[in-house]
Amino acid sequence: MPSYAFFKNEYIPLAEAKISVMTHAIHYGTAVFEGIRGNWNSQHKQIYIFRQREHYQRLLNGCKVMRMNIPYSLDELCRITVELAQKCAFEQDIYVRPLAYKCSEALGVRVHDIADDLTVFIIPWGRYIDVDKARCCVSPWQCPTDNSIPPQVKIMGHYAGNALAKSDAVEKGFDECIMLNQDGYVAQGSGENIFLVIDGKLVTPPTWNNILPGITRDSAITLAKNELGIETIERPVDRLELFLADEVFLTGTAAHVTPVAEIDHRQVGDGEIGKITKQLQQIYADVIRGENSKYLHWCTPVYQK
Ligand code: PMP
Repeated sequence: MPSYAFFKNEYIPLAEAKISVMTHAIHYGTAVFEGIRGNWNSQHKQIYIFRQREHYQRLLNGCKVMRMNIPYSLDELCRITVELAQKCAFEQDIYVRPLAYKCSEALGVRVHDIADDLTVFIIPWGRYIDVDKARCCVSPWQCPTDNSIPPQVKIMGHYAGNALAKSDAVEKGFDECIMLNQDGYVAQGSGENIFLVIDGKLVTPPTWNNILPGITRDSAITLAKNELGIETIERPVDRLELFLADEVFLTGTAAHVTPVAEIDHRQVGDGEIGKITKQLQQIYADVIRGENSKYLHWCTPVYQK
């Protein structure tokens, strides 16, 4: 079944959506992207797109930072995504990749006086971190700061650093990296936020610690509070705490809730999936597939019944 793209204001087969080698964005990383999941529910015969408004709001925030004007409102972006998903007609988990980019075929390092465009494509996509329990290392590559490339929005150029960190980890035999910020505190994974469980509470780096304010992070905080009565403390996290926490897990649109079993060759807890992590993983899995009526406002159904 072919994938489709929304490209130059039209729905076309993904294979036909091509840009020029001169495109500004691919030379200077002048683009902003999102990753949104649509989760297939085989009983409901439905795909639920998870929290797309929040993803598109973050995309529009990134556009503001990068001085980009894309001619679509938040509502239009959501409508385009549902229409595109309907056109693709997949009956499996999907991944939506919106990309707002500097589309002029022009060289020169700048963000002003360059035309912008938006493309969105959808592909079928299953697991991202393909293990039940991840083995991680602390990365030698640092997270950029607010005063270099703001990490609070998904600027394309930022991900060159994350790619260096991820490959370093994988080529050393780990599943994912944990990056520190410029002050040496724990920041995030290459595509995930991080949580520690300490004394029955969740602890996670605060949004002012140079992290991406993840939508899964927000979902995990909300679900832990509402469903498990567990509070989350947002505070700087020392590197050493990674080794001593009772449980550690990663959150991200692609990675969902991924337990961490080992960090830098030290077992996390007893090396098994922690109790709170497991509960949260299950609650989250139900919520994103439209199985929990309390959170249906987070789920946009693709197919009309
Ligand atoms: N941090 C980084 C660096 C990411 O790329 C992502 C993935 N978007 C996340 C955290 C998790 O964010 P979200 O839960 O919104 O996908």
